[in-house]
Amino acid sequence: MGGKEIPAMANRKKIPSSDATLAVHAGHARDEAFDAVTTPIVCSATYKFKSSAEIKDHFEGRIEREEYGRYGNPTVRTAEKKLAAIDDAQDAALFASGMAAITTTLLALLKSGDHIVLTSDGYRRTRGFVLGTLARFGVEATVVPAGDAQAVEAAIKSRTRVVLVESPTNPYLRVIDIEKLARLREKNPRVKLLVDATFATPVNQKPLQQGADLVLHSCTKYLGGHNDLLAGSVAGSNDLVSLVRASRDELGGVLDPHAAYLLIRGIKTLALRVERQNATALAIAKWLENEPNVARVHYPGLSSHPDNEVARRLMSGFGGVVSFVLRGDFESTSRALDACELATIAPSLGGVETLIEQPALMSYFGLSADERNNLGIEDALVRLSVGIEDVADIRADLERALATLTTLANPEKKPTGSCDAPKRSLDVEPPVA
Ligand code: PLP
Repeated sequence: MGGKEIPAMANRKKIPSSDATLAVHAGHARDEAFDAVTTPIVCSATYKFKSSAEIKDHFEGRIEREEYGRYGNPTVRTAEKKLAAIDDAQDAALFASGMAAITTTLLALLKSGDHIVLTSDGYRRTRGFVLGTLARFGVEATVVPAGDAQAVEAAIKSRTRVVLVESPTNPYLRVIDIEKLARLREKNPRVKLLVDATFATPVNQKPLQQGADLVLHSCTKYLGGHNDLLAGSVAGSNDLVSLVRASRDELGGVLDPHAAYLLIRGIKTLALRVERQNATALAIAKWLENEPNVARVHYPGLSSHPDNEVARRLMSGFGGVVSFVLRGDFESTSRALDACELATIAPSLGGVETLIEQPALMSYFGLSADERNNLGIEDALVRLSVGIEDVADIRADLERALATLTTLANPEKKPTGSCDAPKRSLDVEPPVA
């Protein structure tokens, strides 16, 4: 991205820009209202026109301005321009949540009779929308194993219009070879390649540079970064983003300007946070690999990960999520997580706070053991989203959690290790999600 002009700063001196610089400056107008340094939250549902001539100028594209809140908002527009800059896209559109971005985009691109290819090990609600709602509207889907480009190729039919992948995936952090899929798409020009890069972030990977047509994020995660907002984004060419935006105008899942303000503030520190989270997650993953109470660690930065080569080629950092399987069962895994005092038991990821969850209990609550098995969700699987706390404190917390497995296996023995015994009683009932 070196030497690139910062969008919406064209009237300033041209300066070389990296992700960190773009994240702070891109998207902002040269002159903010009231000489403020930050972008104000514009709370207006509708916008006034000085004359009928101005209405014509607006609709005929001679001036850029707002008209009605569902079609656009100045605070949201600033956030969209910032996102487009860091995703290296011509344009971006924001939505009320990641799911609003995904569903609106798919509804914009697909019609009855079309076919979509979806990779497995993805966000449960995305799969639910594709296999449930879209199926009701006559869109056929094929789910292929994540990480298997040949299976994607084999699944593509003449009616296929979308290949939707997540990378890295949730929760096993498979990394999809976007470049390989982009080459497949060249042979099938009517197919659009969509990448949900929520786990990667624009700091670690730029799928549009690797051949994707659209990149999507749940901005609720790393882009917001503070577990205090819901938002979703789609970025790509002007034409495709306009198509999706037109669908958003109808479906109405727009982002509120207050959330857009928080998102702008979050994105300004994205590069700092993600660099820290990459380093902490890698250190924790390497340490966990040698822990006797851990059966397996899933982290794309480890040489033991099946997609380590792809990750090294396509990503500049491996992200802040580490998944690992304990040597335990459903119950003892719950007990281990209950012993955490720093990591908070909660769904979601990507914020400054370290969050931990047992997917079999949290994200997949309500599914039978067989159903979870079919989806590959092991009972003793743990998903850790590292925050920006000190790595030694995160590790000490996990040591405390792992020590409970030793205690449960040998109730007479006091746990060994560098940390204190778990402070919470092991007799407490596991939480109901
Ligand atoms: N995509 C991925 C990879 C996710 O993990 C999630 C949520 O966890 C979503 C999309 C949906 O985002 P949101 O919760 O912002 O609607």
